[in-house]
Parts: sequence; structure tokens; C-alpha cells
Amino acid sequence: MREYLLYSNGEFTESASKRTFESINPFNQEVVARVARAGIEDAQRAIGAARIAFDKGLWPSMSREERSALLKSVSDKINDQKADLEQLEVEDSGGTIRKVKEDLYLSARAMSYFSKLAVMELKEPIDGLSKPGFSQNFLVREPVGVVAAIIPWNFPLKMAIWKLGPALAAGNTVVLKPSELTPMTAMELAKIVHAVGFPPGVVNIIPGFGDDVGEELAKNPMVDKVSFTGSTAVGKRVMSLASESLKKCTLECGGKSANIVLDDADLDIAVDGALYAIFYHQGQCCEAGTRLFLPEKLHDDFLSRIVEKTKKMRLGDPKAVTTDLGPVISAKQRDRVVGYIKSGIEQGAKLVVGGSAPRTPDLKNGFFIEPTIFTNVENTMKIAQEEIFGPVLSVIKYKTVEEAIQKANDTVYGLGGGVWSKDNEKAMAVARQLRAGTVWINEWHLISEKAPFGGYKQSGIGREFGIEGLREYTETKHLHIDEVGTREKKFWYDTVIPKE
Ligand code: NAD
Repeated sequence: MREYLLYSNGEFTESASKRTFESINPFNQEVVARVARAGIEDAQRAIGAARIAFDKGLWPSMSREERSALLKSVSDKINDQKADLEQLEVEDSGGTIRKVKEDLYLSARAMSYFSKLAVMELKEPIDGLSKPGFSQNFLVREPVGVVAAIIPWNFPLKMAIWKLGPALAAGNTVVLKPSELTPMTAMELAKIVHAVGFPPGVVNIIPGFGDDVGEELAKNPMVDKVSFTGSTAVGKRVMSLASESLKKCTLECGGKSANIVLDDADLDIAVDGALYAIFYHQGQCCEAGTRLFLPEKLHDDFLSRIVEKTKKMRLGDPKAVTTDLGPVISAKQRDRVVGYIKSGIEQGAKLVVGGSAPRTPDLKNGFFIEPTIFTNVENTMKIAQEEIFGPVLSVIKYKTVEEAIQKANDTVYGLGGGVWSKDNEKAMAVARQLRAGTVWINEWHLISEKAPFGGYKQSGIGREFGIEGLREYTETKHLHIDEVGTREKKFWYDTVIPKE
């Protein structure tokens, strides 16, 4: 079992209350870490440190190259420590080793990318306004200030990097709160940040719970921006708390993504693609392909293929490379998913595979749910409308593509979507009609730190990644430089100043 302290103002300390909490391995319920539990006082202290680090210019006035080098060394250290970090991530999150290995690779890669963004000069001329002899005009992007970042448990290290990377690359200081369910790799990241020599207060990582620390981060007036990833319900709460001081918010929230198979799809790819879309990380992905729209023509064949493959999926110890699906994150989450499965049955959907916890003795201590597929799903049912965040697929049969698009969009969410077809033009026409922030054609889950990611509708506000994502961590300034030079030519002054 590991022990972790808070990381605040460049120091590792206990929490003010000396309270701790335990992190549990969802595979066997063993305690894997005892962690200092930050409270409101600790949040205020970390915010104060980040405020001073920003206002005194410890980070924003460092050269872009120096900042970039520090970010790159974080990426290098993640690579150096990847074997250890992988084990911790598996134990803390229940993600399979195959998934977590990819996460570690992508975390280091993302941080390396953000280190490159850090050297960009965020200044550009404003075309059409600047005129020789009149003025020069620039659009300058400057750091927002102190950023509070709040993250969920499904991609613990990757999520921490996705917040710290762009916020720091843009010149902000940060207080990050990992999920109380998966604090371990974020706290290892704190050690890395400390070891590579970030100035005190630039990065603060405080593990704790949402109702005290999370709320303080969202409402504290010394915070300039909240960058939140989590459920839509909590996102709404965060936004309302942030509104008290009108702070900027980026909200990356839930989804109910539609996966539309067109009748000319290549079934060899689409069948595996649909399974990957829903069952990757036990369905605990915000943009998982949870609603599968099948045309009448393909429905029965497609369904029998996915059911057959689903039956072969191996639940097991997430550390074993042979395991396809690990446990879900917690008993609460498992019970929530089981509740949705019951509601599907009650509302008349047909359960064709899965539907309960496995009975295998060696899985009895883990929070497992069999990969589950429902057919005869109506888009109005709870299992088609609400985010389950578990391995449950709702299959919806459609007659016309227009009907599939209309139903795909008939949800409060708009995070991801997918279209499967051999005809790119046809698929593109459908993709353009989906009200979602990312749409894959013949693919799923390929999220890149270089491409904007975020939600339409109640899936969120703002975008992460790429230049677009970097801009979310900046304020925009118009810089006007006069070139007129003489008082006589400045006739607009005459509107207020009496002529001599
Ligand atoms: P959650 O909303 O319960 O918690 C997310 C974070 O918010 C945690 O750190 C939690 O401690 C904190 N929190 C909880 N209550 C809070 C409050 N009142 N004030 C401030 N902070 C609070 O979500 P979760 O269960 O950790 O994660 C699953 C959810 O995250 C799903 O809805 C999923 O779709 C979403 N998610 C979205 C994205 C995206 O990019 N859009 C990515 C991953 C996960």
C-alpha cells in the first residue's frame, strides 16, 4: 500500500485536518493507497499559492522555452517511470493493462505535444484593421491566471495531463483535484513535477472529494478559470458556483453517443468497431458508442455477430494481458449499472447477452458486470437516453437514414458519434448532421491531443486539445499601436475636447 500527501506550494504535506482516505482496487477491494484528504482550508492554501505564483510571475514571466523544457521533462519522466505508473493505474482504476499501457504512452505523448505548444507566441496581427500611418493592431492571448482543474476517474493520469498540459503551456498556474476514486497516478505526477523543478505554487495537486474541495475550487474568487471534466449534473453545479465570481468555465461532461451503421458498411470492421465503441474500458468512456443504430436490412446478421463476439469476451484480473474487460470502478457504479439493466427489462427492451454480475468465484471480490446488449430498444427508454457509464449497449433498429439521424440527435447530449459505410461521401453527409463534437467515420475512440474535443448541448462547454484547446486557457487582448502620431490628424478627439 502506498501513502500520499497533498502537493501544495512546492511541498508535500498532510491535510490541515490530518484526515486521510483510502483508495480501493476495484478488482479485489484491497486498499492500495492511504491519501491525505484535502479540505476547504487546503484548497484555499493551494489556490493562494497558485495566485502568488501567477501574480509574482514565477511562471508567466519565465521564458516560453524554459516553460516548454519543464513540460518536456515531465513527459520524459512519465516515460521513464511508465512500468510503475502502469501498475498503479491498473490497481487504482481497474483499467486493463492493455488499456493502461496505451494511456501511459498517450499521456507522455500529450505532454510532449503541450511542451511544443508552450513555445508558440500567441500574438497575431488583426488583418483588415491595421493600416500604415493609422495603426497597428494585434490579437494577443495571455494566460487567464489561476486555473482550478477537476477530473474524473476513468482516465486518471491522462486526464491530469490533459488539464495541466495546456493550462501550463498557456502560462497559467494550476490547482488540480483528482477523483477521490483514483488519486494515485496524479500524486505520482506531483512527485514528477516537484523533481523536475517547477517553481513552488505553479502546480498544486490536492486529492479530495467534490462536495468540499471541488466546490471550493469552483467558487473561490481567487480562481480565474475552472476546467472541469465529469458528469453533466456536477458540471451544472460547478458552473453555477463559478458564476458567483463570473469565472470562465470549460466543461467536459457526459454523453450518449450514437453509432450509425449504414447498409453498405463493411461488416468485418463495423462489428468489431461497434464492440470497441461500447466495451472499451467497460463502457466507462464519456464518448462511448452506447446507442447502436442498425438498418433493418443488416440488423439480424449484425446482431448475431456482435452477440457471438461478446460471449467470447473475457472478464478477469485487469493485470492479465488476456483480460478484455476488468471491473467497473466501484460498488456504487456497479449497482447503478445494474439498476439501468433492470430498467431496460422493465421498459420492454430485450436482453440478448450479459445482464448481471459474473458468478465466477475468482471475480467475486471485484465490481464486475458482464458485457450486456439490449435489442428492441426505443430511443425514449432510459437505457437510450441516460448515461449508464458501464458495459451496456442499446441496439435500435431503423428504417431510413433520416430516422436514424433524427433519433441520434434526440438526446440532451452531443459528445461523440460514428458512421460506418464504404462510401465516405455518404458517411460524411450523415456525420455533418450529427449534433456532436467528434464524429468518427469507420472508427471510434481515436481522440488526439491535436484535435479539438468537447461537446454540443449538455455534453459541455468549450473544447480541449489543439490550438483551440490552448485558447480556452487564455484571455484575449486587443493591442492597438497608434501610427497617426500627430494631434491635428486625430479628429475624433474633437468629439469631446474643445478646440483651442
Ligand atoms: P463526477 O461528476 O461525479 O465527478 C467528477 C469530478 O468532480 C470528481 O473529481 C469529483 O470529486 C468532482 N465533484 C463531484 N461533486 C462535485 C461538486 N459538487 N463540486 C465540484 N466538484 C465535484 O464524474 P465521475 O463519476 O468522476 O466521472 C464520470 C463522468 O465523467 C461521466 O459522466 C463521463 O461522461 C464524464 N466524463 C466526461 C469526459 C469528457 O471529456 N467529456 C471525459 C471523461 C469523463
